Amino acid sequence: MGTEAMNKAGLRIDGKAVAEKVKERIRTELAGHLAGQPNLRKPGLAVVLVGEDPASRTYVKNKIAACEAVGIVSFHHVLPQDTAQEAVQELVTRLNNDENVDGILVQLPLPSHINSRAVLALIDADKDVDGLTAINQGRLAIGEPGLFPCTPLGVMELLADQQVELKGKHAVVVGRSALVGKPVALLLLGKDATVTLCHSRTKDLDAVCRSADVLVAACGRANMIKGDWVKPGAVVIDVGINRVEDANGKGRLTGDVDYEPAAARASAITPVPGGVGPMTVAMLLSNTFVSWKRRLGVK
Ligand code: NDP
Repeated sequence: MGTEAMNKAGLRIDGKAVAEKVKERIRTELAGHLAGQPNLRKPGLAVVLVGEDPASRTYVKNKIAACEAVGIVSFHHVLPQDTAQEAVQELVTRLNNDENVDGILVQLPLPSHINSRAVLALIDADKDVDGLTAINQGRLAIGEPGLFPCTPLGVMELLADQQVELKGKHAVVVGRSALVGKPVALLLLGKDATVTLCHSRTKDLDAVCRSADVLVAACGRANMIKGDWVKPGAVVIDVGINRVEDANGKGRLTGDVDYEPAAARASAITPVPGGVGPMTVAMLLSNTFVSWKRRLGVK
């Protein structure tokens, strides 16, 4: 971590502010390209939503609004809950062939009668802005350029924004999902951190966490990472989003890290909400913009 950030013990990392910075960077850079080449088409993101899930509808609405705010065109495809597998796959194939589409996002979860893996596998890897195809996961594993999952990219962007030095540092990631834990571990490895990837069978998890210079929590267990699991001066990134009820039965969101005691020991820490959460949409826009530039050869 840079000296300036290191001096501020317990710094609360403002994910909303960093996400705004990322969006502003895209907006400004895109506006510059379009001003210089008026015939250039704008980047396009296609969002596919199958069914009525209210949370998914809200996520999709937010993603579309975020696209518009930076100048990315969105194509919204809403299919009924009982849509057949073949129809979803036909739509994905059509979007793969659509020149105006740089990114394809299939909102998960899909209804239970749909084989999600088969749908995701169809997405053109160069339009796979969620980074979930086996090709992009493989590219990440072997260190080739590709499109990588948005939440892990958001974690890396937060660390970069805080100028956290990763080279030779011990990074501990708790959680090994294909969506978060594994890609975060690979991205940290790509920045020359020494990475330990933990999961539900890891022994002495508290001691492993205590040895971390950078601790990334992505296990989906409310407040599981205790304050005294944090090495004094460590940087803590809490990916967890857990809905819990307070004593009055009122719902609220909390992370995987017991925030207050952890913040007392960490040099910097993300809150929940307002930490990693806002970064995910920002990195989706960033992936769409990157895909557009690669596809049109814009430098
Ligand atoms: P998954 O449920 O897919 O994976 C959870 C991982 O945590 C698994 O690898 C599991 O281990 C591990 N784990 C579970 N319990 C323990 C335990 N007691 N000790 C150690 N490891 C444990 O979750 P996701 O990766 O999809 O998500 C993780 C969290 O991040 C969730 O809270 C989710 O809501 C949040 N999230 C936040 C996003 C954001 O935008 N901020 C985006 C995506 C997710 P094992 O493999 O052994 O079962």
